Amino acid sequence: MVTDIKNFIIGVLGSLFATFLTTYIIHFEQFEGSFNFKEIWSIVINYTFLIYWMAALLLLIMVRRFIRNRIDKSQTPYPMVLSIGGFHEAEFNAEGHGFKWKAYADVKQWDRSMNEPLDIHVDRVKGPYCTNDFREMKVSRTYWGRYKYKCPKCGYKRILLKNAWTLKCDIGDEIEAGYRDKVNAR
Ligand SMILES: [Zn+2]
Repeated sequence: MVTDIKNFIIGVLGSLFATFLTTYIIHFEQFEGSFNFKEIWSIVINYTFLIYWMAALLLLIMVRRFIRNRIDKSQTPYPMVLSIGGFHEAEFNAEGHGFKWKAYADVKQWDRSMNEPLDIHVDRVKGPYCTNDFREMKVSRTYWGRYKYKCPKCGYKRILLKNAWTLKCDIGDEIEAGYRDKVNAR
């Protein structure tokens, strides 16, 4: 769909530009090479629709850049130091944003009587994985800059405003929040 629009615009602009060029060259030859601004201006006036097309295209490019910028800026910034991994006391399977995730956490506080964690720190989240077959989702950007996640095996697809890192942070936050909530309930 997006490619169709792109091809259409390129096609129309190409033909318009070709028409403009050939007309200009014919005029240019008629006036025996005299470079006349008035003459060029009259051609421009004759091709107002070309100007409209150019303006529309320019507007489209600017709007696209603006939207992509806004989406980029709304992401969670990457940390200065990335966790290397290593040993984690707890491992979770999580679900969220339409995907499956794996989370690795360290337990900050244990409930000794029940032998279960009271407070955890999620150190690393892996994913997103497909909900159907646990395959790792492939990420690409759409024309307007949204993030397209697609399973290479079953074709499961989701388009979101958040990149993988932002989603991971969200999932980690949610798991931690769940434990915080548990503590409050006691
Ligand atoms: Zn799948």
